[in-house]
Amino acid sequence: MIEMRTLPKIASVTATEILDSRGTPTVRAYVTLADGSQGRGDAPSGASTGKYEAHERRDGEAERYHGRGVREAVNAVNTIIADTMTGTERRGQRAIDSLLCDLDGTESKGRLGANAILPVSIAYTRACAAHYKIPLYTYIGGIFASGERMPCPMMNILNGGAHSRNNIDIQEFMLVPTGASSVAEAVRIGSEVYGELGRALTERGHSTGVGDEGGFAPSLDTDEEALDLILEAVVAAGHMDRASLALDVAASEWAEGVGLYKLPKRGGVYTTEELILYYNGLCRKYPIISIEDGLGEDDGDGWVSLTGTLGEQMMLVGDDLFVTNRERIEDGIEHGRANAVLIKPNQAGSVTETLEAISTARGAGYRVIVSHRSGETEDTFIADLAVGVGAEFIKTGAPCRAERTAKYNRLIEIESEMRRGMY
Ligand code: PGA
Ligand code: ZN
Repeated sequence: MIEMRTLPKIASVTATEILDSRGTPTVRAYVTLADGSQGRGDAPSGASTGKYEAHERRDGEAERYHGRGVREAVNAVNTIIADTMTGTERRGQRAIDSLLCDLDGTESKGRLGANAILPVSIAYTRACAAHYKIPLYTYIGGIFASGERMPCPMMNILNGGAHSRNNIDIQEFMLVPTGASSVAEAVRIGSEVYGELGRALTERGHSTGVGDEGGFAPSLDTDEEALDLILEAVVAAGHMDRASLALDVAASEWAEGVGLYKLPKRGGVYTTEELILYYNGLCRKYPIISIEDGLGEDDGDGWVSLTGTLGEQMMLVGDDLFVTNRERIEDGIEHGRANAVLIKPNQAGSVTETLEAISTARGAGYRVIVSHRSGETEDTFIADLAVGVGAEFIKTGAPCRAERTAKYNRLIEIESEMRRGMY
C-alpha cells in the first residue's frame, strides 16, 4: 500500500464540457497537485442505463444539445468541488472520494452529479500516480493491494438493442479470445474475426455500418443468425479453438413489470422461465461462456432461478442488476444472484466506490469484468483499472472506433511495459 501522507495538497481542480463518442456532451476534469503533478479524467455515459445507477446530471436546456448539455456539472466542478478540494488537508483516494460524496450528500449523487464527481475522482487518481512517477495501473494496484494480471478482452463485434438502429433485440454479441496467450494476441484474434465478419456480412448484402460500441449493426432474420455469422467468421479466421462467445442481453430494456419481457424490436413476449429456457438452448448450441443481464434489474427471484440453472456452467453477469453498487452486490451474493459483476465506474460515481464494489464481489468469488459505456471518450482509465485490480475480463467494444481501440491499445502498452519489467 502506498503511503498517502506523502501526497502533496491539491492545487487546482477544473472541468470543461467535451464530446463523447456519440457527439453528446460530457465532463472532462483536471486535477493538479501542489508539486505540479497533473491528472485528467472523463465521464462516460450509458444508453441502456440501469435505474439504480448514480445520477447523470444534464442541463435540460432544450435549445442546447437537445437538453443533454453538462454545463451545470462542469460548473459544480469549477466552483463547489474546486473550492472544497483545494481547501482540504485530506490526502489519498479514499479520503478525497469520501469528501466528494459528503459534499454531494445524497445516495445517488443527485446533487452534484456522478458525471461531475467521477471525472474529478479519476483525475485525482492519475495525478497521484504522476506524483509517484508510476503507471496508473500500478498505483491502482497499490490502492487495491492485488497482484497484476492482464484481463481477457470481451469484444462486442455485433451490436443490437439500444446501441443500434437495426432489428436485433440482444444488445451485444461478444467475441472472447479465451485461448489467447496475451492481450496483444487476443486483440489480433478479435480484429481478424471482426474482419471476417465484415466480409461475411458484405457477401450476403448486409450493412457493415457500426453501432455505438463499434460492432457491426446489420438487420438480420433472427438474433440467432448473428451468432451463426460470428461463428462462421471465427472459423474463416481460423480461431475456432481460441475463441468463445458472450452475450449482453440488457434485459432490463425488455422488462414489462417484473417477470415479463417484451422484445422491443421483434415484439415477442417471454416469461422469466421462458427466457431461462431460451438461454439454456442457446448455450447448448453455441460456445457461449457468459450472459450479462439475462434478466431485468428488478427480477431478483428470476436471477436466483437463472443462476441455479446455468450458474455452474457459465458466467452470469450482473450489470443493471448490481450497478457497481456495494449494497446491491452484497444483496445479490446473499440471495445467490449471478456469479460475476460488471464494473462501470460512472455507475458508482467515484474511484473508491468502484474499488469497494470490486472487493465485495471478489470476496464472494464473483468474477470481475471492467466495462466501458456505450458513450465513451478517448480516456483509457478502465484499462489501467482492469489491470490494477486484476480483473478477469474487460469489455470495451469492437476493435473499431478510436474510443474503443484506445483502451485495447493501452492494454497492449501496459502488457509490453510489464513484459519488459519496467515497473
Ligand atoms: P450502456 O451499455 O453503456 O449503454 O449502459 C453497456 C452495457 O449495457 O453493458
Ligand atoms: Zn450491460
